[in-house]
Amino acid sequence: MSASTPITQDVMTIPRKLPEGPVNLVGLTRDQLRQALLDMGTPEKQVKMRVNQVWQWIYQWGVRDFDAMTNLAKTYRAQLAEHFVVDIPEMVSKQVSADGTRKYLVRIAGGHEVEVVYIPETDRGTLCVSSQVGCTLTCSFCHTGTQKLVRNLTAGEIVGQIMMARDDLDEWPEPGVGTGDAGPRLLSNVVLMGMGEPLYNFDNVRNAMKIAMDGEGISLSRRRITLSTSGVVPEIAKCAEEIGCMLAVSFHATTDEVRDKLVPINKRWNIKELLDALRAYPKLSNSERITFEYVMLKDVNDSDDDARRLVKLIQGIPAKINLIPFNEWPGSPYQRSDWARIEKFADIIYKAGYASPIRTPRGEDIMAACGQLKSATERARKSRAQIEAEAGLSQQ
Ligand code: SF4
Repeated sequence: MSASTPITQDVMTIPRKLPEGPVNLVGLTRDQLRQALLDMGTPEKQVKMRVNQVWQWIYQWGVRDFDAMTNLAKTYRAQLAEHFVVDIPEMVSKQVSADGTRKYLVRIAGGHEVEVVYIPETDRGTLCVSSQVGCTLTCSFCHTGTQKLVRNLTAGEIVGQIMMARDDLDEWPEPGVGTGDAGPRLLSNVVLMGMGEPLYNFDNVRNAMKIAMDGEGISLSRRRITLSTSGVVPEIAKCAEEIGCMLAVSFHATTDEVRDKLVPINKRWNIKELLDALRAYPKLSNSERITFEYVMLKDVNDSDDDARRLVKLIQGIPAKINLIPFNEWPGSPYQRSDWARIEKFADIIYKAGYASPIRTPRGEDIMAACGQLKSATERARKSRAQIEAEAGLSQQ
């Protein structure tokens, strides 16, 4: 080849070791994306710039069509399209509650379905994201806990829920120009409180949250991400060190006897072990405080003594206690505490110096409230099966 032969660097690409079939770029960390682009043949000296460009298109502007990535050469775009896809979970249905809460049913690879909930507030909005299909734990007040674990979600499926909601809210900045910094965001906060125990899917949750926090993309501050755990003690310090987000804990009881029943993981790591891990968290993660979630169950965990014990237990931990009026679901073994009881409980905690907001139930009319999330898979399948059966009958 003569030295004068014009060759653009984009064309000088020799695929090295791409796996079979197109790879989904959503969910790859920056390092993984870099490797994928190198494997496709992107020259080493270009790769940093290419990673930045592709990253911005996907995560800052929500663009999924390589052809629309206009600052990349046409040949490079074609190459990307040949090797990769930009794929997010598919929205199967959306229900909007009278209070504006949106519940999405989304389908992920393998035909599994998970629920995602968007809760709007006056100057912000929170997306409740799922990390597993079903759950291995069997918290007795939780509807999701009645569904067996099917599988962990991939990092792409987790961050893809945020991207899907931004699609639905029409909240991507203008492609190629906007930064997303103007005005308050509709989707400003993420809570990992949907289906599953996020700390049992640690690597994928961490990678997904790193992507969501990246300043050249979705750009959510780590203080706007809250991971809620039932108390997987060995992973708590790791969460502080590797994610650094806010932490919430499904606490729900003040004695091991009651917590063993409500949150059975307590049999493995009891209240004392959990509190020791929580005590270290704020310092490790440089976050101000931990949120203690406390579901109010009539005559189970809602006495004045419980409130006093709670205050004593968490002494020394910077904390806020979220009181959650129980949302009943069909067949649930508990009842919601009376309103006056909840207020009295809140008052004892407040007087001890802790914020103790009572969570307003949201989206009750669409079963989107806390603890009610259960994959609609079975229900949807049933209704689809019914429809098909009816159709079959009518053909006979
Ligand atoms: S509360 Fe969380 S950890 Fe417990 S069963 Fe429900 S989804 Fe699983």
